[in-house]
Amino acid sequence: MNLKRIAALLDLNLRGKAFKEQFVIIQSDDWGSIRVPQNKEAQKILNNSSKQLSIFQKYDTLDCNEDWRVLLDLLVTFKDSTGKHPVFTSNFVTGNPNFEKIKEHQFTQFFWDPFYSTYEQFNQEKLNTLEIINQGIFKGIIEPQYHGRQHVNHKKWLKSLSSGNATALEFFNHHMWIYDSINSNGLRSLNAVFDSCEYTIEEVESEFKDGICAFKQAFGQLPQSFIPNNYFFNREWHSLLPNFGIKSVQGMKYGFETNELDGMLKYRRFNKNDKQNSSVVQLVRNVVFDPSSDLMTHNNDSVQWAKDQILMAFALNKPIIIDTHRVNYVGGIDVNNRNNGIQKLSELLQWLVKKFPEIRFISTAELANLYT
Ligand SMILES: [Zn+2]
Repeated sequence: MNLKRIAALLDLNLRGKAFKEQFVIIQSDDWGSIRVPQNKEAQKILNNSSKQLSIFQKYDTLDCNEDWRVLLDLLVTFKDSTGKHPVFTSNFVTGNPNFEKIKEHQFTQFFWDPFYSTYEQFNQEKLNTLEIINQGIFKGIIEPQYHGRQHVNHKKWLKSLSSGNATALEFFNHHMWIYDSINSNGLRSLNAVFDSCEYTIEEVESEFKDGICAFKQAFGQLPQSFIPNNYFFNREWHSLLPNFGIKSVQGMKYGFETNELDGMLKYRRFNKNDKQNSSVVQLVRNVVFDPSSDLMTHNNDSVQWAKDQILMAFALNKPIIIDTHRVNYVGGIDVNNRNNGIQKLSELLQWLVKKFPEIRFISTAELANLYT
């Protein structure tokens, strides 16, 4: 590791409560969202782009039964010192755009379907995807949490569509919205739902009501944790979260807000109970693990990089909160992507339980409780 990386990891891990126990939390975003549809035409459009695709445009697609089975089969093979399996916090996007209805209304209104309907629409098997997920929840291996009602900034998207933006319309016709994020590592894309100065607190609340209703319908419980799309969520809205049962906000070192002029504001986050805004606990991920990137960079360094981040966090007695997106574990576009992700997750977990025999696998909700 170079000095710059060491300094960044120190800065990330120095603050916050230290623990005697070595806690491991795994957080994974985007489950339930379609992102790139599994049809050749959509993929052709993306691949024809002159720009370099990100892992999300190349491999991220709706999770299917086999993806869940392979992931669950892997997780049950590991145990911590107390006999507990790793808990995979799966953050669900609880809806997807209804493209037909949006078109019927000439792009003037946003319509969405709950994610369990999306599963029903695309699942090839008799067994519903949701049933497999619920079995994982029952076994304590999956912890479902909330990642928003949809993963598209519908206010900005409908504006581009109704004004006749040719690229937006071409992507729409292939059931995609991600035209503006190609070759952009910037967070300000159509994926960032709450990156808009046009939201009133009442509209935010109404979206939460809808999305969380779909969540409850699917899992029979309320979420206890929320991760905003692309980390955009104005701090003044945090006071809404306890009304929906949400006790913690997941995210990275920085959170983002949009000001009234549509400018971006960045603020530092720490693992703590955020008493200023509400009783909500802020949780900061300190280990980035996206092995799909190895397929793009061919550096094959995702596991080593995760190990370096873990060693630093544990050296400072901090819980490790692993950030690992769904994209790494889905094979609907390319099965090699799922094989690669599962194999590297296995490698990382094997190393963890061997190197740190005392580790404790806990859920995001359990971690949040330690800060209250
Ligand atoms: Zn996301």
